[in-house]
Amino acid sequence: MRYVSTRGEAAPRGFDDVLLAGLAEDGGLFLPESWPVLTVAEWRALRGLPYAELAARLLHRFAGEAMTLDEMRALTTDAYAGFRHPAVTPLVQIAPNQFVLELFHGPTLAFKDVALQLLGRLFDHVLTKRGERITIVGATSGDTGSAAIEACRDREAVDIVILHPENRTSEVQRRQMTTVLSPNVANIALKGSFDDCQDLVKTMFLDAPFRKEMRLAAVNSINWARIAAQIVYYAYAALNLGAPEREVAVAVPTGNFGNVLAAWAARQMGLPIAHFIIGSNRNDILARFLAANDMTARDVEPSLSPSMDIQVSSNFERLLFELMGRDGAATAGLMRDFRAEGRMPVPDAAWKKARELFTGFTLDDAGTLAEIQRLHRDAGYLADPHTAVGTAAAHALWSDRKMPLIIAATAHPAKFPDAVQRATGIRPALPPALADLYERPERFTVLPNDLGEVEAMVRAHARRNAVPA
Ligand SMILES: *Cc1c(COP(=O)(O)O)cnc(C)c1O
Repeated sequence: MRYVSTRGEAAPRGFDDVLLAGLAEDGGLFLPESWPVLTVAEWRALRGLPYAELAARLLHRFAGEAMTLDEMRALTTDAYAGFRHPAVTPLVQIAPNQFVLELFHGPTLAFKDVALQLLGRLFDHVLTKRGERITIVGATSGDTGSAAIEACRDREAVDIVILHPENRTSEVQRRQMTTVLSPNVANIALKGSFDDCQDLVKTMFLDAPFRKEMRLAAVNSINWARIAAQIVYYAYAALNLGAPEREVAVAVPTGNFGNVLAAWAARQMGLPIAHFIIGSNRNDILARFLAANDMTARDVEPSLSPSMDIQVSSNFERLLFELMGRDGAATAGLMRDFRAEGRMPVPDAAWKKARELFTGFTLDDAGTLAEIQRLHRDAGYLADPHTAVGTAAAHALWSDRKMPLIIAATAHPAKFPDAVQRATGIRPALPPALADLYERPERFTVLPNDLGEVEAMVRAHARRNAVPA
């Protein structure tokens, strides 16, 4: 299995190179050179398998020669053993033909754990084989940082440094990061904003000698292995609901477009996902694109679903590349226009193709609170504000359909207790494994907004010179 870049200039690479590189050298995103398509009989043979086994069989197709099925199985078994539900990603029915796919049973209560728990182990496996180490550096406003830290803690070949803005994350978010006391984890509380954290990280990555010496790497949402790992839960849900004999649809609350892209990738593999609903909050660039071919970035506005407060959905580039008939030069041109003008002139033919499969749905904060209340009243189900965007889309667009709709539940309600309490009067409790979070000791270093001091801390923490045994 080889991977090509959406901008058509980078040489094709294997799975482990794509895993470690993240972004292609031409600035594009990696996609399989051709999609591994399973026959109906092959899909049927996967029905009923435990989650980790299904993950191993599907992901092995993407790894190609880079890993054996047994190696992949060892990693998926280990990655998903720590989830709090035996089904890993269980389905809960909330209405006729509407099923919530709960993706939040991992260590940090958000769907990013499903991919990142595996990604950390994939990094370790590939790096150990190569006798290499990396240092992961990232900035977080709260959620991504904790999922990345949980994924990388205690990994042999990986060190991780996460910057968060001091006193600007919630206490739960900070403690989920700072109470991980593993020696390979470092937290920096920066005297500055989230944007300052991000600027420092960007500058470190642009500092080529420093990047090389520290072997800096990122775990951002454009990494192909993250998307691949997310394909598994759509397959798991669809098979449980009657695929491949029965068509299903999905509704996904979206920010960077990664989660919905994974569902679309499952379709590319032959799974009968007939339709895709993309949920947005007031930051609705994707909904505007689908409604009127208006892909214009506006200022990001804060909402009750902060992980969807995004105006540039980076993974959209992968869909765009396919819509443009896999023309890398044309895709690169559109991305350049978007960067320069804040507006992307998508050709009408490509836009029409997108509309055949995707429908946009937008919900503001008032609508989100109303939906959390409605769903609790109608179905006794507590949804977090991100998930509520998806269930509201289902309620509005899918109430009379016979085809099952899978709604991605991206966060545990206890991760956003204030909104849930405002809507329902109920304050959702943290699961038992996190109940003592407020008593656990914390470790972090407060640093000024200064590149020199932050780089010195990364240098002191990175074990890049030692080769793992
Ligand atoms: C990251 C995140 C999203 C958005 O996912 P994308 O893959 O960026 O579309 C939605 N909800 C929650 C809770 C998240 O953490």
